[in-house]
Amino acid sequence: MSLNIPGLAGSLISVSEEKADPSDIDYVARDSRLHPDPSLIPDPADLGPGRVRSEAELKEIAEVAAEALADASTDEILAWAAETFGNRLAVACSMANTVGPEYTARFQPGVDVLFLETGYHFAETLEVRDQLAAKGTVNVIDVRARETVAQHEANFAGKPYEIDTTACCGARKVAPLNAALDGYEAWVTGMRRSDSAGRADTPVVQWDRSHKMVKVNAFANWTLPEIERWAALNEALINPLHYDGFPSIGCGPCTRRVAPGEDARAGRWAGSGKTECGIHL
Ligand code: SF4
Repeated sequence: MSLNIPGLAGSLISVSEEKADPSDIDYVARDSRLHPDPSLIPDPADLGPGRVRSEAELKEIAEVAAEALADASTDEILAWAAETFGNRLAVACSMANTVGPEYTARFQPGVDVLFLETGYHFAETLEVRDQLAAKGTVNVIDVRARETVAQHEANFAGKPYEIDTTACCGARKVAPLNAALDGYEAWVTGMRRSDSAGRADTPVVQWDRSHKMVKVNAFANWTLPEIERWAALNEALINPLHYDGFPSIGCGPCTRRVAPGEDARAGRWAGSGKTECGIHL
């Protein structure tokens, strides 16, 4: 597959035939800047296929692609991502729907799909995860904190999501995802500009300063009805909670139904002032 994208230098978008060797990568040492608490870092054996490009190379790729692909179609963006990163590309999925993983798999079959298994999900969300895994078109990976929910709650001497949502998200989502993403050069997100005012300027490709990698927001300009339509036409999965008042689905204790006219993400940490878990900051 070849894409002729003006402005992208061939040396930047060529796909290396060389496979990354995970044993060459000292994840814990490389994590030191991103993960202040080593106890939260998952076992490196659970991580992905590694990085071969330098941070400077990845940053240049992101900046060039952000401009060149600003008006590109989802097909063009995902084809470029697959060609450029191969198995060093992952997809993050909340299991609100499976459009992101299933669309990406058209260009990168068997792509790794990272699901943040916090231990607090709705049963319906875990069922979508299992159904997606059963399709066999992608590789679903549960990204977990090392601590069990019981250990986590013991640390807080109570329900962490009632005591400190920032710390709870940090331990159950942010730190485990930071570690998992260290095994890839780029990730595809499900962020949409229509989700909320805070996401209105989401670019289709960007340099991810937090994770030192390329972030591919291939669905940035999609709307929820477009997600629903694509899923229906392509037999992708939609979480049943979606049609029960949950257009955005996170952990059970922190997600409520939204009222007509509210932002899709209005039900997340409602009333707390918190709008993001931290993985996109
Ligand atoms: S969304 Fe709520 S339960 Fe889930 S990790 Fe964040 S604070 Fe904890």
